[in-house]
Amino acid sequence: MRTVGNIQAVRRERASLSGRVGIVPTMGALHDGHLSLVERAQSENDAVIVSIFVNPTQFARHEDLDAYPRDLPGDLAKLEQVGVNLVFTPPPDTMYPPGHQTVIDVTGVSQGLEGERRPGHFRGVATVVAKLFNITLPDAAYFGQKDAQQAAVIRRMAEDLNFPVDIVVCPTLREPDGLAMSSRNVYLNPRERAAAPVVYHALKAAEDVFANGEHSPAVLRQRMLDVLAGEPLGEVEYASVADAVTLTELEQPINTDVLLSLAVRFGRTRLIDNLSLHFSGPT
Ligand code: AMP
Repeated sequence: MRTVGNIQAVRRERASLSGRVGIVPTMGALHDGHLSLVERAQSENDAVIVSIFVNPTQFARHEDLDAYPRDLPGDLAKLEQVGVNLVFTPPPDTMYPPGHQTVIDVTGVSQGLEGERRPGHFRGVATVVAKLFNITLPDAAYFGQKDAQQAAVIRRMAEDLNFPVDIVVCPTLREPDGLAMSSRNVYLNPRERAAAPVVYHALKAAEDVFANGEHSPAVLRQRMLDVLAGEPLGEVEYASVADAVTLTELEQPINTDVLLSLAVRFGRTRLIDNLSLHFSGPT
């Protein structure tokens, strides 16, 4: 496994990889969710690149950039063990040298949900992913359904800007109690950690209601809120029932695939999670 931090070196290493190449972009503090993307990439490609970069432009000023968990030695040990070919670990000024002025704004699908609560977040995400694509020239790139809106934004960008990169979205890995794996879970204190699976329980409760024939978005939304209300440590930021493709909030009876998504704060930790519902016609 080669680990490099500058752009010339990563281009050189990339050029020496033969066959189909997949990339898994990450911010490090790697957990089994990240490693599941690596495994999928390995199963579909001849070589795999992982980038580790805590991208400052996707954090707003009041967010947790400085506190974001970092463990480069631990990350490299995990990647070495699973047999990644190349790891790109650029410092911030390599990705954003003085004078940089260009950003990528994906419009529609960036606007609701996380985009509304984290202004500028998806501009930072789309810009850094476009740069990673241009630097590493992958054939395929792997993202998690855990960050469903991010995956939708990247898909849109890749299509709109004609990146010759297959965008692959992989299932969310969870802890045994249902909590979606996330680098930010380490922020939770023991009481918050014990309470956090309520997020998944709320999503599953709405899924059950839907499976039993309920097609009112308002009822599904309320079902999630009712379950979350049972856990006083969780402060709900949003409970959304949206069109799975456009991510616009649904008001009329459901007649399309749906993304249920939640953002809930436990103390200072903000958790997001989601589930997809498949609409198979009127019942
Ligand atoms: P991050 O390091 O948080 O930016 O995540 C890097 C990639 O891993 C993103 O595409 C995430 O959606 C994905 N990811 C994060 N958590 C999980 C999870 N629990 N299961 C699957 N993929 C995940």
